Amino acid sequence: MTKIDEPLRFDVASLLVAAVPGRVTLVGAGPGDPELLTLKAARALREAQIVLYDHLVGDDVLALVPAQAQRICVGKRAGHHTLSQRAIIELMLGLARSGRPVVRLKGGDPYIFGRGGEEAQALAEAGIPFDVIPGISAAQGAAAAAGIPLTHRDHACSLVYATGHLRGEGEPCALDLDWPLLARPGQTTVIYMGLAMLPTICAQLVAHGLSADTPAAVVERATRSDQRTIVGTVQTLPALAQAHGAKPPALIVVGSVVTLHRALGATPAPALCATAASTAACK
Ligand code: SAH
Repeated sequence: MTKIDEPLRFDVASLLVAAVPGRVTLVGAGPGDPELLTLKAARALREAQIVLYDHLVGDDVLALVPAQAQRICVGKRAGHHTLSQRAIIELMLGLARSGRPVVRLKGGDPYIFGRGGEEAQALAEAGIPFDVIPGISAAQGAAAAAGIPLTHRDHACSLVYATGHLRGEGEPCALDLDWPLLARPGQTTVIYMGLAMLPTICAQLVAHGLSADTPAAVVERATRSDQRTIVGTVQTLPALAQAHGAKPPALIVVGSVVTLHRALGATPAPALCATAASTAACK
């Protein structure tokens, strides 16, 4: 199996342009557990010739790709971009124009915070045929695996997904979210890519009217064998996450549905639960 660790060695300009471009399939790899791939995604991987994959895609998902296929890691991890988004798009377009079918494999669902929409736009503008195979997004994987239903008639009748990632690659800028919307009671708010900004996020939610006692959790590496859930409140979660050394990939879940974790959580690894008063580890 060809694995290219330094994709910049790839000279896109030198690829021959075929009369008919290859089809690109944007595939959602799901949140981690390879059994959460759709049947369609698994088939696309088994039939793949070239796979461009993100850092979040696990080895057990990549194991479905045939040995003779070319696998190219295009990275993307907070602060460690193997390739810029522009370069990823250029590589994908160049490979497709050379006439070969390309699988673009992305964590979770391609159209949820993965910039899959921008990649699809580039393909459409370039006149390259493409398909999108949806994946289970991290929020759904985390909800099921951590025992936190995202909606529940007694807790939340709306659900908001937001990103805590600052726009622009590596440029410092303020986190500009719709705080009044995110701070609404009676809803569940899930924040992707927010761990680095957790103290700011929690402070802003309280500043915009959310009770500091609102249950909140960090779900790390959801659906993987080393999944961990850290439970507290909007007030306590930043310190708990820091004390327990929380690391990406992780989601922040805010809302009273988090209380259901105690009864419904059946996580592979013991969860860390803490109320405002206690930081004891528990199941
Ligand atoms: N398209 C992806 C999200 C890409 S953004 C999806 O639909 O899931 C990357 C962010 O997703 C990470 O920073 C993290 O916030 C979240 N994420 C992805 N996989 C995760 C996992 N297994 N556990 C927790 N969060 C995860």
